[in-house]
Amino acid sequence: MNDKNHSIDVLISEQELQEVVQKLAKEIYRDFNNQEIILVGVLDGSFAVLADLAKQLHKLGMDKIVIDFMGIDTYGSGTKSSKEPRITKDLKHDIKGKVVVIVEDIVDTGYSLSVLQAMLSARLPQKLATLSLLSKDERREIEVPVEYIGKHIPNVFVVGYGLDFDGKYYRELPYIGVVKFK
Ligand code: 5GP
Ligand code: MG
Repeated sequence: MNDKNHSIDVLISEQELQEVVQKLAKEIYRDFNNQEIILVGVLDGSFAVLADLAKQLHKLGMDKIVIDFMGIDTYGSGTKSSKEPRITKDLKHDIKGKVVVIVEDIVDTGYSLSVLQAMLSARLPQKLATLSLLSKDERREIEVPVEYIGKHIPNVFVVGYGLDFDGKYYRELPYIGVVKFK
């Protein structure tokens, strides 16, 4: 990206990310071992963690993994918008009676996740659990259950490994970084 008015400091290295995802995979394996699970990646940011998680689950021996995606536009988190959250991409699979694990990149205020959890639990899955690679605990405004958290981070704006800068850049970084403005 040219014309930089910022730099990026590494917060979580590529190596550490792999260890964090391995830890998450072991927790999912411990809880759902022989069952079919539907991993629901929340677009767009979850693609990196979802891809690595699914591969780790395969290595642990899980072989009934369904991968699906959901896009949801919550009109900016934390606002008292009167607009209904809008589904921009719905699931391909019927989750009724299924074991579903939502896969998120980061939980901040918790609004996006609470909307998504409500939408998905209305479809009557047998079990609905949530995994998030990162959590900014001090930013939480609404209590949401997140059974699997990769790493707790402070209140900083992070990019990379799926997470974007300015709605477009840096999702491809193999590490998580913190944007510093000059
Ligand atoms: P929440 O509804 O929990 O406030 O917002 C969660 C969403 O906001 C995340 O899924 C992510 O898309 C975005 N978000 C929150 N914090 C960050 C951050 O530090 N960096 C980036 N790139 N996105 C973030
Ligand atoms: Mg997200």
